[in-house]
Amino acid sequence: MSVDYRPTVFLPKTDFPMRAGLAKKEPQTLARWQDMDLFEQQRKQSEGREKFILHDGPPYANGHLHIGHALNKILKDVINRAHQMLGKDAHYVPGWDCHGLPIEWKIEEQYRTAGKDKDSVPPLEFRRECRDFAEKWVKVQTEEFQRLGVLGDFERPYLTMSFDAEAQIVREIGKFLQNGGIYKGSRPVLWSVVERTALADAEVEYHEHVSQTIWVRFPVVRSKAPLLEGASVLIWTTTPWTIPGNRAVAFGEEIAYGVWQVETPGEGSHAAAGEKLVLAKDLADTVKADARIEAWTHLGDLSADDLAGAVCAHPWRGFAPAAGGYDFDVPALAGDFVTTEQGTGFVHIAPGHGADDWALGLQHGIEIPQTVDGSGTFYDHVALVGGAVVYDENGKPGDANGRVIAALAEAGRLLHRGKLRHSYPHSWRSKAPLIFRNTPQWFISMETNELREKALKAIDETRFVPATGRNRLRSMIEQRPDWCISRQRLWGVPLPIFVDKKTGEALRDPAVIERVATAFEEEGGDAWFSSDPQRFLGNEYNAEDYEQITDVVEVWFDSGSTHSFVLEARPELKWPADLYLEGSDQHRGWFHTSLLESAGTRGRAPYEAVLTHGFILEEQGKEKMSKSKGNALSPQDVVDNQGADILRLWVVASNYEEDLRFGPEILKYQGDAYRRLRNTLRFLLGNLDGFQESERLDAEEMPELERWVLHRLAELDRQVRRNVEGFHFHALYQAVYTFCAVDLSAFYFDVRKDVLYCDRPDSLRRRACRTVLDEVFSCLTAWLAPILCFTAEEAWWARGKGPEASVHLRTFPEVPAGWLDEALAAKWSKVRDVRRVITGALELERADKRLGSSLQGHPEVFVARPDLLAAVADVDMADIAITSAITVTEGEGPAEAFRLDEVAGVAVTVRLAEGEKCERCWKVLPEVGSIPEAPGTCRRCADAVQHLGAAAQ
Ligand SMILES: [Zn+2]
Repeated sequence: MSVDYRPTVFLPKTDFPMRAGLAKKEPQTLARWQDMDLFEQQRKQSEGREKFILHDGPPYANGHLHIGHALNKILKDVINRAHQMLGKDAHYVPGWDCHGLPIEWKIEEQYRTAGKDKDSVPPLEFRRECRDFAEKWVKVQTEEFQRLGVLGDFERPYLTMSFDAEAQIVREIGKFLQNGGIYKGSRPVLWSVVERTALADAEVEYHEHVSQTIWVRFPVVRSKAPLLEGASVLIWTTTPWTIPGNRAVAFGEEIAYGVWQVETPGEGSHAAAGEKLVLAKDLADTVKADARIEAWTHLGDLSADDLAGAVCAHPWRGFAPAAGGYDFDVPALAGDFVTTEQGTGFVHIAPGHGADDWALGLQHGIEIPQTVDGSGTFYDHVALVGGAVVYDENGKPGDANGRVIAALAEAGRLLHRGKLRHSYPHSWRSKAPLIFRNTPQWFISMETNELREKALKAIDETRFVPATGRNRLRSMIEQRPDWCISRQRLWGVPLPIFVDKKTGEALRDPAVIERVATAFEEEGGDAWFSSDPQRFLGNEYNAEDYEQITDVVEVWFDSGSTHSFVLEARPELKWPADLYLEGSDQHRGWFHTSLLESAGTRGRAPYEAVLTHGFILEEQGKEKMSKSKGNALSPQDVVDNQGADILRLWVVASNYEEDLRFGPEILKYQGDAYRRLRNTLRFLLGNLDGFQESERLDAEEMPELERWVLHRLAELDRQVRRNVEGFHFHALYQAVYTFCAVDLSAFYFDVRKDVLYCDRPDSLRRRACRTVLDEVFSCLTAWLAPILCFTAEEAWWARGKGPEASVHLRTFPEVPAGWLDEALAAKWSKVRDVRRVITGALELERADKRLGSSLQGHPEVFVARPDLLAAVADVDMADIAITSAITVTEGEGPAEAFRLDEVAGVAVTVRLAEGEKCERCWKVLPEVGSIPEAPGTCRRCADAVQHLGAAAQ
C-alpha cells in the first residue's frame, strides 16, 4: 500500500508570483504610496535626523522625458533612497529650468506654423505663452518621473520661473552689481543670426561645414627690415566676410618666416611675376602649390624680430570703390595663438570677430569696429559691403563672402581661393552656423573680486566622483573668459539694470534692486516690462536720466542660482548641498555656473561633492543614443512594456561613471537578472510561510552553514554601507546580485531545500534555516529597496508583517558585528571548493544517464590536501553535496576519478547509493523499508510524519 506523503511536505507557499507583471503592478503600487503619502511619512519619521541633500539639476520643461533624463533621475532616486535608509533625512526637491531659448523657440515655431509674425506679438503675451508651455511640460514630466519610481517633493517642486525664484535671481544679480563684478562690455560673442542672440558655450555644437578660404596680400608699408620692402604679407582665412573688420595681422614669435619672389606664375595663377610674398617657411611649399606658382626665388629669411613693428596696408587701401574707408594702418603683432598647422603663418585679426582677435586688439589698444548687426547684415556705414548678408534668417550663406572676394580680386589683393571642410560652431537648436559678432553685453568679470581664484579654491575643497571631474572643471575655470550673462531675448528674468544716460554707468543701488525683487515676488518678471520704470527707481532717481535695459539674464545664471532660492530658502533643506549629480557635460554647464555664482556671492561652491555619469550609447557602443539618430528607446515605452524596475536595474547594473550602453538586447539581459532576484525573494517568501518568532534561534545555536550565511550578511552590510557613502551603486549591486545568484540560489537554498521541506518543524536545522531566511529577507528587501523600489515593496507587502507600512520607511537593518567570522568563512570557502568537484562529478554521471538525480549517488571523495581534509572533516558533506550518502577518504584517488584543475588535491568517483528511495524525501537509504510503522520512508521522515500526526490530533 502506497501512502501519499505530499501533504506532509512543507512546499513553499506564497502569493508573490513568479511572473512580475511590473507594467501593470507598478502603477498600483504608486497609487498606494500616494494614498499613504509615503514621502510625507518619510519626512515625519526622519525629522531631526542628519540631512542628506542632493540638489536636483533642473531639466528643461519642454517635452517628454528621454532615456538620459531617466538615467539621471533614477540614479538620484537610488542615492536618495539609500541615504534615507542609512538613517538620514534625504529630502529631495525636484526642479525645472523654465526660461530660455528652447521654450521660446517652441512658441516661435507655433507662430510660424500659424503664419503669425512673432515680432507683432506683445512681449507680455509672448511671455505668458512661454510660461503656459513650461507649466504644461512640468506636469507631464512630473508624472513621467514619478512613474519611474522617483520619490520627492513633487507637490512643491522648484521652478526657475516661479515668482520667488525670479525675485531671488534679481537679488543675486544685485550682489554682483554691488560688488562691481558686473560690467558692460563690447565683445565678440558666438552669435546666431537665426535666433538673433548670443549663445552660451553649452548651447554651441560643432559640426562639419564647408567654408570658403582665401589667401590675401597685405602690402607692407613700413618696416625696419629691408627685405620686407615692396613685399606683401600673405594671410589665409576661412571667413572672407571678416576682412572688412580687419585691423591687424598676427605672426608667431617661434615661427621662422621668409620672403619669396615669384618668377613664373603657373597657369590659372593669380600671382604676378616679380611680386614678393612673406610667409612661414614651413608652409611655403604648400602655398606655392596651392597658388599654382611654378617658380619662385627665396630672397631670404625673417625672424619674428624683423616682423615686429612692421605696418601693412589693409588690402582695400587706396581701392577707389572703398572711397578711403580702409586707408588705416594694419600693424603686424605677435600672437601666441598663431601656428603653422594650416595657412600661411599669418593670421588676419578682426577684433570684433574672434576671441583671440579681441584679446590681441585689447592688448594693443586697437579699436573694435561694429560691422555686422544682429541679423547678420553689414551696417550701411561699412564701406564696400554695407547691406551684405553673412548668413540669412534661415542660416544660409548670404552675399557677404562673394562681395568681399570679388572686391579683393578687383583690388588685386586676392592671391588664391579655395574651400575647406572643417569643424565649425553651430547653434544647438537651429543647427545654423554661428558667427563671432561684436555686441554690447553685460559680463561678470572673472578677475574683479578674484572670482577665478575663489572658484579654483572651491574646486579644491570639493569631492569629485569620479575624481577626473576635478581637473575637467578646473581647466575650464582656468581658461574661461568673463561670463556673458545678457541675452537679447524675452523669456527670462529681466536684467535689472538702469544705465545712466550721461555717464553710461550702471546704477548700483541696493534699494532699487530690492524694489525690483519685491515687484517680481508679487508679479513675476513681467513687472519689468509692464511697470513705469519710476516704480523701481523710487524718488531718488529720475527715470528720464536712465536707460532701462531690456535684456534678460541667460538661463545658466538662473540655474546657477538655484542653490540660493532652493537650498537657502527652504528650511527643510541645507546649504551647501551634499551632492550635485548630473551628466559629465555639466562641467561646462550647471556645475560650472553654480560654482561661479556661488563663489562670486558666497565665496565657496554650493556643493560638497559632484558626481557625474556618462552618456547613453546604443547597444553596440558605437554611437550616442539620440532621438535624431532614430536609435532611441523612450523610457515610457520601457516602463509600459517591461516596467520601471527593469530600467532602474539597468542604471545600477551599468558602470555609470562611464558611458552606458542601452537597447533591446541589454533590456532582455536585465530582465533575466531581474527574474533571478525576484526568484530569490520568492524562495524566501515561500519558505518563510508561517514563520513564528518562537522558531527563532540565536546564531551560536545554529549549524555552521547558517552561521556562514550570517557572516556573508555582515560582510555585505559593510559593503552596502561603504558603497552608499561612496556613491558606488554599481559595486553595491554587483555584491548583492552575486550573493543572491551564487551564494543563495546556487548553494545555500539548494542545500537546505531538503531540511526546509522535510524536517519536522521543531528541528534545530529547520529553525536555524528559517531564522536565517528571515534575516536574509530583512536585509535583501532593504538593500534592494533603493534599486528595485517597486519589487522590494511588493515583497515587503507580500510578507504581510513588519511594523513599517512600507519597505521605504525602514532603515538598513543593524547587522550584529558578532556575525562576522572570518575563520568560518575561510573554512567554508574550502568546503565549497571540495563541493565543486563533487558536483562536477555528479553532473557528469547525470549527463551520461548513470544517475537520475544526485540523491541516487554515493560519491567517494579522495582528498590529498590536509587543509581541505580538515575543512570537511566535521561537515556532513552528503547534505552539502545533496546526495544520500558520501565517503571522504584521505588520498590521491584512482586515476580515472573526476578532478577539476582549479581545485587541486580532490578526486571523486561516484557509485549508486545503497538502499531504497524514501517516498517522502527521495533520499536513497538502506534504512528505508525497515521501519515497520512507516514503510517507504526513511527514519527522519517517519519521525516527521509521526510528529505532524501527533500535532494534528
Ligand atoms: Zn525521507
